[in-house]
Amino acid sequence: MRFQSFLIKYAEIGVKGKNRYLFEDKLVAQIARALRSVDGTFEVWKTTGRIYVDAKTEYDFEEVIDALQHVFGIAGICPLLQIEDNGFEDLCRQTVAFLDERYEDKHLTFKVVARRARKSYPIHSEEINARLGEAILTAFPEMRVNVHHPDFFVNVEVREKINIYTEVIPGPGGMPLGTNGRAMLLLSGGIDSPVAGYMVAKRGVELDAVYFHAPPYTSERAKQKVVDLARIVSRYAGPIRLHVVNFTDIQMYIYEKCPHDELTIIMRRYMMRIAERLAQENHCLALVTGESIGQVASQTMQSLAVTNEVCSLPVIRPVIAFDKQEIVDVSERIGTYETSIQPYEDCCTIFVAKHPVTKPLLKVIVRSEKKLAEEIDAKVEEALTTAETIEIE
Ligand code: ATP
Ligand code: MG
Repeated sequence: MRFQSFLIKYAEIGVKGKNRYLFEDKLVAQIARALRSVDGTFEVWKTTGRIYVDAKTEYDFEEVIDALQHVFGIAGICPLLQIEDNGFEDLCRQTVAFLDERYEDKHLTFKVVARRARKSYPIHSEEINARLGEAILTAFPEMRVNVHHPDFFVNVEVREKINIYTEVIPGPGGMPLGTNGRAMLLLSGGIDSPVAGYMVAKRGVELDAVYFHAPPYTSERAKQKVVDLARIVSRYAGPIRLHVVNFTDIQMYIYEKCPHDELTIIMRRYMMRIAERLAQENHCLALVTGESIGQVASQTMQSLAVTNEVCSLPVIRPVIAFDKQEIVDVSERIGTYETSIQPYEDCCTIFVAKHPVTKPLLKVIVRSEKKLAEEIDAKVEEALTTAETIEIE
């Protein structure tokens, strides 16, 4: 059957007062943006406490649901029968016709749940429940009422118009994009960082991303993989500006000057420093990484502390306490996993020592970094000025 409208449910907790309008307006804008990639014309509008999507043309149901399931802030999507108030008889008749079309097999239990937002409506909620229930049972003798565990609810909302729906398709939850500032995601080609970006975006944070590329040690394919990942994340997170930083010179220089077992940690400190500079230039309020405690040598608590020491912006690590499998589960659900496991070289692994330090001491690392004093600042500036920016829509 073809639904003319969808009722969009969103979590209202924490969005009272003035912020609520902001929240709703952003959500309306994000829904409209998501539907632009869907065949058909839609109108998205809001009224007190409700957001609606009206289809103005033919459309593909699955495609619309899929688009809406990528919009953070949506808690539920209700395919809707919306009718004018032409009296209670008409409401019953239209509801019965709706259920007839929606449920081919009538051996089901239901419960009517009416809400009367328009208090002038002459029939009270309890009475709507009882009388509409009667009408449904009369029309479909195979149906039964079950007030505790029905197969479906017949939700009736009496407003200016009357909304009737039986299904609430889950949305992704979270907060609408644009309600919580912007952050710089350190995006590698791995499994973890795309998940980290998704998780932060889910809280309404818009993203820039930075990828450290080390040609010729890392290939164009490796870079393309990161672009592909950014594109998948952007389906949720909106447009992403991806900054590709050429890191080869810096890596070679560290390799030349510093103890090899400290390479990874020093390299990571330079990644963070550069990411922070890019963040500041692009109005980002935090850095985001896919680090997880203990996953590799550079992610022991000691390493994380030594890495963190170079940053003054907050570093958000959404998967810090996740097991690998938990991260994999999210990446499969959001669709990044297949791309992440493609086997292209990573700039971190190419220069990696056989036995990297797992418990670096800050003062030792700082002393090693002094050996870079002569040229490192110029190399960092060079990396920043030559960074390529790719706009991902
Ligand atoms: P991922 O699966 O996200 O690649 P990982 O398990 O490979 O993570 P590391 O290589 O130690 O872990 O990287 C930790 C984090 O540092 C990554 O999650 C990412 O945020 C950032 N990072 C690592 N390498 C790069 C890179 N080449 N470009 C941008 N960010 C990177
Ligand atoms: Mg990696």
